[in-house]
Formats: sequence, C-alpha cells, structure tokens
Amino acid sequence: MSDVDPSCLFCRIVAGQLPADKVFEDEAILAFKDIHPQAPFHCLVIPKVHVATLNDFSAGQLELVGGLLLTAKRIAAEHGLPGYRIAMNVNREGGQVVFHAHLHVLGGRPLQGALG
Ligand code: AMP
Ligand code: ZN
Repeated sequence: MSDVDPSCLFCRIVAGQLPADKVFEDEAILAFKDIHPQAPFHCLVIPKVHVATLNDFSAGQLELVGGLLLTAKRIAAEHGLPGYRIAMNVNREGGQVVFHAHLHVLGGRPLQGALG
C-alpha cells in the first residue's frame, strides 16, 4: 500500500483529474460507473487510498475492506437491484487490468452462468 499514485488511473479519478460518473463517495471510498458496462448496472467500488490488489490490503485495513462490501450493498439497494453480483479480479491471472483494487457491482438483469 502507498499513498496516491499519480500514474494510476483510479487514483487520478479520486484526485478529480479524470472524469467519472460517481454513484457514491465518502472519506474512504468512491464508486463510479464502469466505462464499459457488462450489465445494465455496472459500477466499481474503490478505496480512495491506492492499494494495488486485494493481496496488498493489510490486516489494519479490515474496516476499509468491509466498507467496500457494505458500500456495494448500499449502492445495490439505492439502485433498486433485487439481486446483483460482486466480483473482484486479483492480478493479471485473475483478470485484473487496473491495478487499483476495486469491486465490480453488476446487476439490472438476471445474472447466470459461469463465473470463470
Ligand atoms: P479489472 O479487469 O477488474 O481490472 O477491471 C477494470 C475495469 O475498469 C474494467 O471493467 C474497465 O471497463 C473499467 N475502467 C477502465 N477505465 C475506466 C474509467 N476511466 N472509468 C470507469 N471505468 C473504467
Ligand atoms: Zn491507485
């Protein structure tokens, strides 16, 4: 974990240097619409602090990790999603492309099929 990384796309969104369609923000967490949605509702929930992957969170960040999930739940409720899917890709082998940890929140249609 480090502080804001100016070369990181999502850090630049947090810093207001790049636009985002925000759906939630507090002191520690930001959520915004995915630019290439894979479902009618698709947003990303990120920590404001730069953490590259799930593997890079420390034990001292339990509240932040839990906050990401509770934020996803809150967003789903606020957008009237009766069901939704949370996904978190970890490392390239796990499909991660942007190395600032994020939850995907997907919904707005029945979600079925293989996860992997
Ligand atoms: P991942 O494969 O888990 O790293 O997912 C990265 C996600 O970030 C992809 O779903 C992209 O569509 C999304 N993404 C990339 N750039 C932006 C951006 N500027 N604003 C919103 N979403 C983005
Ligand atoms: Zn970052």
